[in-house]
Amino acid sequence: MKKYLFLICILATNFVFSQNSAKNYASQISSENLLKTVEYLSSPELEGRFSGSEGFYKAAEFMAKEFTNLGLNKLKDESYFQKFFVEYNEIHQPIEFKLITDVEKEYELGKDFVFRGFTGEGNIQSEVVFVGYGISIPEYDEYANVDVKDKIVLAFKFNPSWKIENVNFPSDLPREKARVAKNHGAKGLLLVSLPNDKNPQKTIGSVMHGKGEQVNIPQLHIDIPIADEFLFKSGKTLKQLQSEIDSTKSPKSMELQAKAKIQVKTNYQKEKETVNVISILPGKDEKLKDEFVIIGAHLDHVGEQGGKIYFPGANDNASGSAAVLEIARTFAKNNIQTKRSIMFVLFASEESGLEGSEFLSKNLPFPNEKVVAMLNMDCVGYGDSIQLGNGKSAPKLWELSKLIDSENAKLTVKNTWSGGGADASPFHQIGIPSLYFVTTNSYTHLHYMTDKTETLNPKLFEEITRLAFLTTLQIADGKYTRESLVQ
Ligand SMILES: [Zn+2]
Repeated sequence: MKKYLFLICILATNFVFSQNSAKNYASQISSENLLKTVEYLSSPELEGRFSGSEGFYKAAEFMAKEFTNLGLNKLKDESYFQKFFVEYNEIHQPIEFKLITDVEKEYELGKDFVFRGFTGEGNIQSEVVFVGYGISIPEYDEYANVDVKDKIVLAFKFNPSWKIENVNFPSDLPREKARVAKNHGAKGLLLVSLPNDKNPQKTIGSVMHGKGEQVNIPQLHIDIPIADEFLFKSGKTLKQLQSEIDSTKSPKSMELQAKAKIQVKTNYQKEKETVNVISILPGKDEKLKDEFVIIGAHLDHVGEQGGKIYFPGANDNASGSAAVLEIARTFAKNNIQTKRSIMFVLFASEESGLEGSEFLSKNLPFPNEKVVAMLNMDCVGYGDSIQLGNGKSAPKLWELSKLIDSENAKLTVKNTWSGGGADASPFHQIGIPSLYFVTTNSYTHLHYMTDKTETLNPKLFEEITRLAFLTTLQIADGKYTRESLVQ
């Protein structure tokens, strides 16, 4: 009995000691440092960090230099960069978008319209034809009774919330809508959000385009009031047209008595080199050092247009990138000796569809079974509480992080989900337990030009980074064993 008590005492003291030192390390993570990194990553100089662009490489070089200064190991002893190839596009001047009726009206890039990241180029002036949701399948053809040859089509950016005869509509991503438009002979595509949505989406910067070949016609996302100006002579508003289509489930396509002028140049490349930035802190335990914790965030955002506007992406995801750097810095500066190894990753090409995380998940420098857990940080600088995503698929990992949180800032909401999420998804799909750190309130500046440092909540940002650090520390210290995913 005495012996057991003694043991318990030792265990308790050890625990208190290590918990205190862990808290001490975590307290070194400051919002000042975090915001400084965000400020740089979201500055005009980095031009919105579109994967593969000069601005993105500046961000990647910056991270690599920080890793060098921290003395972290390189991947395969050669470079912090893991190279791969992605589809790439640049949007150049001359840029012009005008309404032409009895009068001419010029629209403003970034306010009235933005280009979709993978827009094609062109210099056109033509009639505009409204084609509803822009769908053309045998069961539902919004192109059936209109002639769009050499014209510009105006279509809803999303798909209907209803179905016809249980048929699934094709993808609602711009590439598919542009492909359908071009196949019918159209020379340009104007996409507009749904006016009857509760909070209709404003024009956003986006490089999420869908799979397939490049469709070389201009593709714009225009604001709802601008679409209404094109519709003016039809006597109907966009809202009325959406209601009519949705209530009858039948096309209301028509030629509008208005022309548009669109001009834009692009530099499209089917394959361009980009990089994940990766560093490693080796573990110290003979048995466990071959096992890894991966902590990552995506470094890329949605770029710039015509040298005129850019998307800063302070919360999305300069915040997560800064957090990963700060966590790496805390480990390295304090020379924290963990049993397992830690891999720090800044992913490329999340914004076009998780290509960077997918590439790493398929090209890990060690067997997949050696990855104990993957933690992802995406949009962690805004709001008042956080969600630890994927808890339903990796409940033990979720419980571990929640327990740490309950002893610290108490930020986590009860809800979670299953199936990964963002850059955690490719790892989840190969059986690696993952957690996705993200703030709860949907971010009002997401993919807008207003996603700037000053909109962030420094206190929350600091606390969520500390929580991710403490979670990484415990996993790396062997306090978690890889669990089988709950399906
Ligand atoms: Zn994003």
